[in-house]
Amino acid sequence: MTVHEAAAVLGFRELEDIGFRELKKHYYQAAVYTHPDHGGSTVDFDRVQKAHKILVAWLRDRKCPTCEGSGTVRKWHGFYSVASRCPDCGGEG
Ligand SMILES: [Zn+2]
Repeated sequence: MTVHEAAAVLGFRELEDIGFRELKKHYYQAAVYTHPDHGGSTVDFDRVQKAHKILVAWLRDRKCPTCEGSGTVRKWHGFYSVASRCPDCGGEG
């Protein structure tokens, strides 16, 4: 399965649309939808697991544009700055 195929399995139209937050959401929806206990098939469910794994690995190789891979963002409060976890990648970088 290629990254593009994995993205299609989880309902993404463009690779640019994929971030950690979006991936989590799409994965959860796809997992619920294809779960054998909810009328899905094991084959489809396995495909979703595989696609998720591929996209997580693909995202890890990319640097988050918001924090540039550091996992934290700095906000200025007057003359000092406070570091907080990056909201876009959840601190993954
Ligand atoms: Zn980030």
